[in-house]
Amino acid sequence: MTSFAEVFGGEPDGVWYAPGRVNLIGEHTDYNDGFVLPFALAQRTTVAARRRLDSPQWTVHSTLTKETVEIDAASAAAPGALTGWSAYVAGVVWAMHEAGHRVAGAQLFIDSDVPLGAGLSSSHALECAVLGALTDLSDVDIPVPARPRLVQRSENGYVGAPTGILDQSASILCQAGNALFLDCRDLSTEQVPFDLDAAGLALLVIDTRAPHQHTDGEYAKRRSACEAAARILGVPALRDISNGHLDAALAALPDDESRRRVRHVVTENQRVLDTVSLLRAGQLRAIGPLLSASHASMRDDYEITVPPVDTAVAAALSAGAYGARMTGGGFGGCVLALTDAGAVDTVATAVRTAFATNGFTEPATFLAVPSQGAGRLA
Ligand code: ADP
Ligand code: MG
Repeated sequence: MTSFAEVFGGEPDGVWYAPGRVNLIGEHTDYNDGFVLPFALAQRTTVAARRRLDSPQWTVHSTLTKETVEIDAASAAAPGALTGWSAYVAGVVWAMHEAGHRVAGAQLFIDSDVPLGAGLSSSHALECAVLGALTDLSDVDIPVPARPRLVQRSENGYVGAPTGILDQSASILCQAGNALFLDCRDLSTEQVPFDLDAAGLALLVIDTRAPHQHTDGEYAKRRSACEAAARILGVPALRDISNGHLDAALAALPDDESRRRVRHVVTENQRVLDTVSLLRAGQLRAIGPLLSASHASMRDDYEITVPPVDTAVAAALSAGAYGARMTGGGFGGCVLALTDAGAVDTVATAVRTAFATNGFTEPATFLAVPSQGAGRLA
């Protein structure tokens, strides 16, 4: 089934979309009330949808799973009632209800070219696109700046994933040709010019396809290590430790592991601020060393990288990339490499060769183009 008409018959009322995202820099800073700098990808999820007048039910078809699932009012009202991919759709209905909105029943045809489970946030692309569709079809007013919070509620409260605010904000608020500077404490945002094309640069995404292992448990451990350190240091969150006060903070911590975790978060926040300054000054190439320093910090201090990820970064750098780092929560996922536009193939080939030499699964590569956040297509 490749179209709305084939699954449901007739035409949809409209088509909505939301993109996947990558985080340029600022990893594991979000839950420390810190800074992140994501941008939206050209890869996106689309939802062709038609309002149902008969009953408050949501029928969803995904071209990826090739399944059609019926979500009735009872399962949309009970977190946990649905698991699997339809929970992401039911979660949006649930969160809209919880926020006091009446949600119209609908038929939803979902298509996507965001790679699943690669850390590019296909789950949020799905939720944000569904939210756009259901908001318009239900004739309710949910201001755009309020939408990331609602999607976060959906994922935390219904799907049961303890995600932060970064991914939804990127998918909804990013603008083409810009990265989104987001302060995770007050959720203030700023568009930062990031026109790779104009600078003769490219950002190569290397999906390492490394199997994610222990991700949830390790994530929870890092999070509680940061919270414990903030308590010892007497601050609400590690965001409150500035780079200038890092040494004093480290001296006050009881063990080497917590010192390394804190050093990552504090220096990573500073690297985001430095990256924003360079981008504002139009010095795109100069962010390369910050990307590489971010990777070294994730590898050595935060200990969230795995061999395929480190191999991709090292190979990209030795093939001439200006900088490279893992992006996303860690333990697999994607690597970003900043290169001259003309050097993309050389860098990609070097990474493939290094993977073959090490016996890793062949990586997938594509270019990341800073693109427009969620909207309506038709
Ligand atoms: P990521 O968000 O990094 O891609 P997640 O594990 O958070 O990884 O989300 C992936 C899950 O989201 C998939 O396993 C699936 O349940 C759901 N999903 C995302 N996009 C789609 C889609 N187009 N169709 C069906 N399910 C999807
Ligand atoms: Mg996800």
